[in-house]
Amino acid sequence: MAPPEISFEFFPPRNLAASFRLWDTVQSLAPLAPRFVSVTYGAGGTTRDLTREAVETIHKHSGLTVAAHLTCVDATRAETLEIADGFAKSGVRDIVALRGDPPKGSAGFTPHPDGFGSSVELIETLAQRGNFNIRVGAYPDIHPEARDASADLDWLKAKIDAGACEALTQFFFEPETFLRFRDACIKAGIDAPITPGILPIENWQGVRKFATQCGTNIPLWLDDAFEKAHRDGREDLLATAICTELCGDLLAEGVERLHFYTLNTPELTRNICHALGIAPSVELQNVA
Ligand code: FAD
Repeated sequence: MAPPEISFEFFPPRNLAASFRLWDTVQSLAPLAPRFVSVTYGAGGTTRDLTREAVETIHKHSGLTVAAHLTCVDATRAETLEIADGFAKSGVRDIVALRGDPPKGSAGFTPHPDGFGSSVELIETLAQRGNFNIRVGAYPDIHPEARDASADLDWLKAKIDAGACEALTQFFFEPETFLRFRDACIKAGIDAPITPGILPIENWQGVRKFATQCGTNIPLWLDDAFEKAHRDGREDLLATAICTELCGDLLAEGVERLHFYTLNTPELTRNICHALGIAPSVELQNVA
């Protein structure tokens, strides 16, 4: 089985220590030759400048292809497009275009009066610019705001038809969840690649809470397994084994690309990649 193509997601740093940590993570994972790395945009549009700086710095200094996340939250169309055009100007041609999550405490997404009303509007407008490879989010466990699975797929198709070239999924815990979703996408006429999002489990209680917020189904056996591993102080080992098995099962079913949510900590992601046979292809000193 050929090793998969991989990509890594980072979040922008909020202080100097976090900047060093992000840079260490980039350097540590760059030798695995990712297809691209991406930098998130804080919920509620909170990290606009930090995202831009992190994207441009990684682009300039690492030689990696960087995708900038961009959301519709709390910004006018003109502001959002100014950011996108700034990316294009600095050579960043990859955008993950999202509606975005509203700021903490808000009931739901309310478009800015002069802003993009939905992810589809944002994607259409970016596609018309002709400058970008546009990727979008997809939800194997169904987005919590979707009416049902079929409406969720219709909306994903609308995002692809609006000009996106690939979908990156929310994380999930069991391979069948993704495989069923992939089949459903094909049946719905979605022909763009659907790349599974993989979350290495650094901290089970934190991941569990996040999964509940995202509507990600949590299998009972995972609670059990992490409880036992916690007792034995072997959570890292369990996390590596579970995630490697998940990826291995996906690859055995023909999946060719994996997108890792690194949470700016490289160790688990790197161990999982090594276990999958992805070997470093660049000397570290050539990366920075
Ligand atoms: P959409 O797909 O536009 O909408 C979400 C769901 O709502 C759809 O699946 C659909 O079922 C329903 N829906 C919405 N509008 C309509 C409509 N008009 N008609 C019918 N159905 C509709 N959030 C951030 O804030 N910053 C990030 O950097 C970020 N990165 C992410 C990266 C990935 C790969 C993923 C999967 C998610 C990311 N998120 C991020 C989270 C994302 O912003 C939230 O999940 C958000 O609630 C939905 O954004 P979206 O673009 O996927 O929305």
